[in-house]
Amino acid sequence: MDRFARVAVHRPLFRLLHYRVPEHLLDEARPGVRCVVPLGRSRVDGFVVALDPEAEVGGVRDLLEVLDPDPVLPPDLVELGLWMARYYQHYPGETLARMLPPRLRARARPVYRAAGSEPAVGGEARRLWEQACRPEGLRADRLGPAQARLVAELVSTGALVRGWAVEVGEAPAEVWFGLAAGAPPPSQVARRAPRMAEALSCLAEGPLPRWALRQRGVGAEVLGRLVAKGWVARFDRTQTPGSAGTWAVAQGSERPVPTSEQADALVRVREALDERAFRPIVLQGVTGSGKTEVYLRAAEETLARGRGVLFLVPEIGLTPQFLGRVCARFADRVAVLHSGLGEGERALQWERLRRGEVAMALGARSAVFAPLADLGLVVVDEEHEPAYKQEEGLRYHAKHVALYRARQAGAVAILGSATPDVESLWLCRTNRYTLCRLPRRVGAAGPPRIRVVDLRQEDRRRGRRTLISEPLAGAVEGALARREQALLFLNRRGFSPALVCGACGEALRCSRCAVGLTFHRRPGGGVLLCHYCGARRPVPAACPACEAPGLSPVGAGTQRLLEAVRARWPEARVARFDRDVVRRDGGRSVLVAFERGEVDVLVGTQMLAKGHHFPRLTVVGVVDADLGLHFPDFRASERTFQLLVQVAGRAGREDRPGVAYVQTRSPEHPVFRAVQTGDHDAFAQAELEARREAGYPPFRRLALALVSGKDREAAERGAAGLARRASAEGRRWEVEVLGPAPAPLEQLRGRWRFQVLLRAPASDPRPLTALLGRLRALGAMDPLGDVRVSLDMDPVSML
Ligand code: ADP
Ligand code: ZN
Repeated sequence: MDRFARVAVHRPLFRLLHYRVPEHLLDEARPGVRCVVPLGRSRVDGFVVALDPEAEVGGVRDLLEVLDPDPVLPPDLVELGLWMARYYQHYPGETLARMLPPRLRARARPVYRAAGSEPAVGGEARRLWEQACRPEGLRADRLGPAQARLVAELVSTGALVRGWAVEVGEAPAEVWFGLAAGAPPPSQVARRAPRMAEALSCLAEGPLPRWALRQRGVGAEVLGRLVAKGWVARFDRTQTPGSAGTWAVAQGSERPVPTSEQADALVRVREALDERAFRPIVLQGVTGSGKTEVYLRAAEETLARGRGVLFLVPEIGLTPQFLGRVCARFADRVAVLHSGLGEGERALQWERLRRGEVAMALGARSAVFAPLADLGLVVVDEEHEPAYKQEEGLRYHAKHVALYRARQAGAVAILGSATPDVESLWLCRTNRYTLCRLPRRVGAAGPPRIRVVDLRQEDRRRGRRTLISEPLAGAVEGALARREQALLFLNRRGFSPALVCGACGEALRCSRCAVGLTFHRRPGGGVLLCHYCGARRPVPAACPACEAPGLSPVGAGTQRLLEAVRARWPEARVARFDRDVVRRDGGRSVLVAFERGEVDVLVGTQMLAKGHHFPRLTVVGVVDADLGLHFPDFRASERTFQLLVQVAGRAGREDRPGVAYVQTRSPEHPVFRAVQTGDHDAFAQAELEARREAGYPPFRRLALALVSGKDREAAERGAAGLARRASAEGRRWEVEVLGPAPAPLEQLRGRWRFQVLLRAPASDPRPLTALLGRLRALGAMDPLGDVRVSLDMDPVSML
């Protein structure tokens, strides 16, 4: 009986294609393996996603090869991939390929080898057989359709057998370091060997992989010296599994006794695990309230039941302290999937998970595709983070994908945040999710006080725009006097966001984007940068519009703020942390210096809002809280609220109370009232009402189609055509069409951009999927000349 494989080819194609499975591949062509198939005149890679007894059409062609000895994607991931392809309107072959780590391709390679006696064939068949006689055999993954047919015949006569050649030298070892029994306390060597002391204190919480140490500035040379002294031991986790585990136990990493609120949350986790039920839990608690402790305990419980744990964080690179804590607790039971790993290392971690050697995966966005058998727990830390949204190619939201996986597996999902999305809170209010709160910081001083400063009053008093208000300056001075630290936060890098002509008032703009150029100060002058396309221009001597000399910087970025801080407190040790600094040395040195108390005042962008723990930080200043508030985005208020709470949460984490100053020129805005009173519920309530009124999520489901082209009119025409067809077809499914309208960022990288917003019932994704499928079938989403349509389901950025 024939068998047919349904294949997702790695081509821009929405359909799955049928191929007949030839006799000699019957055992290996299983769902989840990669394969080679003919398509037109070429051979393409793809995934077998299912096997069918019949093909949907006659005369289908043969599958050429199977590339994996066993499925790379387990059945649940194949299913997940096909769902994503449908939901996010992406090509299934490409979607499945995106789920794999990039280097996985070379695990093993199919080969044919000669067997039995010489076959009585000539020509091409003979040549193939001769190749199969060589020690390396005949590579199967390079055969064309005609050759594949000849090979199949030779296999059927017994002249060739199929086998697998294993790539050697592919898997690099994963090297870890841990403190040895006789290691001295860091303080003992701090004077003589500060770098060794630094390394020892990094390892105090538990063993760490080499890459994590590298991130914290501990290099190979220091580690070599420590190993030579016998203070640090090096072990290869892949060769001696369990070695790191014994280490952590030997360290006796004690776990704190849960508070009653933590215990409550854990009871719910346990119940759901026992029922094997999909149970989403929103864990709301400020920084330091013990959320991570709940995640770790829940993970222990899950692993103890023999089930898998998927642990997502917004960005792993910037939070080494967190990583140390997880590694100390789970040691070699966790695989870290991290973009800082080499591709080989990443593929290795993936394989360890797939083979079931480890049952817990930790990583950022793309770790959501980790192969985990019998998933029992999904953790999404900082669930409100926009970083979970992939904004290019396959535009998925890792939180939503994680929830899909939890539902698929009957798992618990913990969504943790100090400021959960109102969309998540809505699901709690309507009893679809469970809300657990951790209202207090554990053991520490109370929550940071937040003071809102009205900059308009300050401006009036000074007769010019204020950068650092008197209340904030007073607080910084207090911190300096007490030898504590301050963090001034300004979400805009560079020196100044605009260079403006004093005569005509024109600001310099990017020629390819509809935005102003940012002035960055450089030694010996400056340069103008576009923060959207990266274009760089020298500063002109005169205004390009009116030719008057005298362009001056207006507004402040982190560079200018740093300058102001230096001028005001010349004795203070100051530093800056933003993407420009990170680009230079990973930013590690600045963070470590601030952590160690070698910097008094740190100026930075929102990169600093995430997951850092600075024990001596007591004053936080948000220099311009209005920056994101007037963004053309329905989530602008919510994002601002989240950011302010997050930033304020940096202050005063241990025994010292913290205070945050929020500077604004619109203090009457509800966001500022909410942060000042700490009444998150009232804010969520007001925000939800506004969303309901305006028809935004969680009350409606959105899809944003962006139509762009080099020619403005062609792009606009394309958008109008799409909108027309969408409204004509959309009626059937109750989908509303808004637009076309110019995108808020009307021009980007020389392309003009128009939006069509589709709005559908929130309760059911099918109408939108159906409409989009229909539009695709009508060719309404096809490129026309250089005009392209890109689609964003559940958009996070409306720009
Ligand atoms: P979050 O993730 O909410 O920021 P953490 O879980 O990191 O909070 O907890 C903050 C600090 O309090 C950590 O140092 C942690 O070890 C400690 N901690 C957490 N839970 C407890 C507890 N039940 N008893 C004592 N200390 C705790
Ligand atoms: Zn630009």
